[in-house]
Amino acid sequence: MLAPVLDPLRNKLPVVGALPFGMERMDEATAARYGLVPSQRAQAQGLVDRFGRAHTSLRISVTERCNLRCSYCMPEEGVPLHPKAEVLSFEEIERLAALFVRLGITRIRLTGGEPLVRKDFPQLALRLGALRAQGLARLQLTTNALLLEDQLPLLREAGFDGVNISLDTLRPERFRAITRRDGCAETIAAIRAAARVFQTVKVNAVALQGTNQDELCDLARLVAGELGLEMRYIEYMPFDGNHWSDSQLLPAAAIRAELEREFELLPLADDGTGSGTAALHGLRDRATGARLRGRVGIISSMTEPFCSSCSRLRLTADGMFRWCLLDEAELDLKAPLRAGASDAALMELIESGLSRKRAGHAPAEELLRAQSAGHARSMVRIGG
Ligand code: SAM
Ligand code: SF4
Repeated sequence: MLAPVLDPLRNKLPVVGALPFGMERMDEATAARYGLVPSQRAQAQGLVDRFGRAHTSLRISVTERCNLRCSYCMPEEGVPLHPKAEVLSFEEIERLAALFVRLGITRIRLTGGEPLVRKDFPQLALRLGALRAQGLARLQLTTNALLLEDQLPLLREAGFDGVNISLDTLRPERFRAITRRDGCAETIAAIRAAARVFQTVKVNAVALQGTNQDELCDLARLVAGELGLEMRYIEYMPFDGNHWSDSQLLPAAAIRAELEREFELLPLADDGTGSGTAALHGLRDRATGARLRGRVGIISSMTEPFCSSCSRLRLTADGMFRWCLLDEAELDLKAPLRAGASDAALMELIESGLSRKRAGHAPAEELLRAQSAGHARSMVRIGG
């Protein structure tokens, strides 16, 4: 039998069977060696795959269209778009979303393409928001924000819990070079406006070696410092048509090193506002010793993958179910839906798709080979 030990956090009362103070950290180190993340809460529900990962987050792409042409996301000439009839209607998205919620999804993020270019987008958000009664806990949006300011009142009404906005640079010339369009000042203004309306606003930048590497600290100063928000740096991933190369990938270790030139990085535990993919850090300014109000997140999909704790699924605008961002496998839900499949049959399909999810994604060389073999999707056609 275990001897009672003193728990210094609970009025110094003996707690039978508790780990002595300090042992929890040793336990975390053991967990890390097995690729487990102790900060994640045990999931009582969720779509569980054959490796026991509970999937609670669904990203729904509502359109393949976009008003920017980011070089890391799509080719300059654009992508072949599905005809309108092949894109899921609001009713179809709502039905599939409801089935995912019944299966254990608690967070839905609407994305694209650029979700705000879809006509009547706030109506869709309102309909999906109603799924809260069925167990949806969070409704979120990822956007380039160019159309955000005009739609803010309606989006607030639709009940979004949070918005992620993409911004890779604070310099208009560089913005134009990356996105092949103008809009740097407008995006920054929209971030400020969104921060006044939504409780959670995060800013996403794809970290690109030789492109915006020298601005990572400036982005942190504006977003985490001045605005008190979360600045997230995403490793560059290979997708069809983005001409990915190793030399443009800025690994998480280099992102940390870049930030450490001006800040001390203070590791933070996940507070549950993300889906466990970003390694979070507070920042202390080396020059002044002051701590910034916000924080940074580093998303290291390529060099420090987090597949063992992945909880994300995706539904493309044309109705394909995808269980891994970096796997070209997908399963058609639209055809059976339109052919009159029952809820039970569609849920069975979703579970059978998920059963094909691999333990981890393939390395870059293999992803590039699969993409060059054809049938691959660019990011804009998957939904980030
Ligand atoms: N248009 C919206 C936007 O830009 O926020 C939503 C869709 S976009 C595909 C979603 C996210 O994917 C953006 O934050 C974008 O920076 C990121 N993304 C696109 N291509 C990427 C790539 N090759 N590697 C890493 N992140 C990428
Ligand atoms: Fe459009 Fe977003 Fe892709 Fe940029 S990252 S091209 S804004 S979908």
